[in-house]
Amino acid sequence: MRQSFAQWLRQQRFAPSRKLPAEISRGAAMTTGPGELRISFNDLRSVLRDIFLNNGTSNVAADILAANCAGCERDGAISHGIFRIPGYLASLETGWVDGKAEPDVERISPSFIRIDARNGFAQPALAAGAEAIKTAVESTGIAIVAIRNSHHFSALWPDVEPFAREGLLALTFVNGLANVVPHGGHAPVYGTNPIAFATPVANAEPLVVDQATSVMANGEVRLHALANTPLPPGAGVDSAGRPSTDPHAVLAGGALNTFGGYKGSSIAFLVELMAGALTGGQLSFENDFGECVGAQTPKAGQLLMVIDPTRGGNAGFAQRVSHLCSRLIDAGQDRLPGQRRYASRLNAERFGIPISGDNLLQLKALAA
Ligand code: NDP
Repeated sequence: MRQSFAQWLRQQRFAPSRKLPAEISRGAAMTTGPGELRISFNDLRSVLRDIFLNNGTSNVAADILAANCAGCERDGAISHGIFRIPGYLASLETGWVDGKAEPDVERISPSFIRIDARNGFAQPALAAGAEAIKTAVESTGIAIVAIRNSHHFSALWPDVEPFAREGLLALTFVNGLANVVPHGGHAPVYGTNPIAFATPVANAEPLVVDQATSVMANGEVRLHALANTPLPPGAGVDSAGRPSTDPHAVLAGGALNTFGGYKGSSIAFLVELMAGALTGGQLSFENDFGECVGAQTPKAGQLLMVIDPTRGGNAGFAQRVSHLCSRLIDAGQDRLPGQRRYASRLNAERFGIPISGDNLLQLKALAA
């Protein structure tokens, strides 16, 4: 008898990560290695909240960023978890980002919402639009949210997953700092320009796809540099535009390639249009840190679309998605997007979030 997709998913939850090298794939680990501790999500969030508050954010921004960052660590998105704290703090300290910015939300048509983050973080700006998004989706079946003057320094799935939990489809685009060469080019133009989307799935967690349009995220390159491990072939170029798998060369004036050759390059272009141009924000290559030496967060834009799938005449949408997922598994796909992240989340909820003793000490010092 065929398994339902939900049954299959339940069995697969503890599947280990196949992507990251063992030394940086902590989120999915069941055992605690030497020097490794476990911390609960709430405790980590609370330490991170104090750090953001100590470094000049508003209460609202501190709450949102701490939950987001702790969530990334919990779900094994470690390139966007506590590893990012020094970058957040450098941007706050240099004044590159305003941690107390009050976003300006305008509903300019029944379904089009425009948000000026006013040089603050993107996640509080999105949260400020929550009521307008709900109203737009309820009344028109779709909300388009154009956020500009925003700093997005995290994974994208936390922005879309909550909508899928409400039975909605959500799709988002973010541009960033120019560190990706267009296909066949030698100089960076695009950011790593991620895309994420989330859909409800009947009797299962939402399916979330969240990926850079570069071969890999810049945070992953930094993790490889820390671990002194090479990048996969074709990942990037050095400062002279020569192919390189050395993470240090890619970070020191080099750049990443887009995924999927010229087709991926066109998708990166699309993200630049949607997140940078359409929102009224900056294009990735227009970022200029100026006096803010050491700042790391990109000042860019984000576009989010939230769609009520029942408006397409399909009341059984989540069932249809489940059916499609079952077919993918039957066809031999060994795992679905988001599965590693859910496995990591479940492990963390049971056993705590793995964290090195040194990292915890450093975080507590910053929070004190
Ligand atoms: P990955 O290549 O690790 O994963 C991309 C997507 O593919 C994920 O949804 C992942 O699911 C899924 N996936 C991975 N392996 C498989 C497989 N074998 N079969 C099916 N699905 C699979 O992500 P990236 O390195 O591209 O990006 C990492 C993160 O960096 C993202 O969260 C992204 O949002 C973030 N980022 C943020 C930027 C910003 O400016 N804020 C810029 C660029 C990236 P799973 O999660 O379960 O592994």
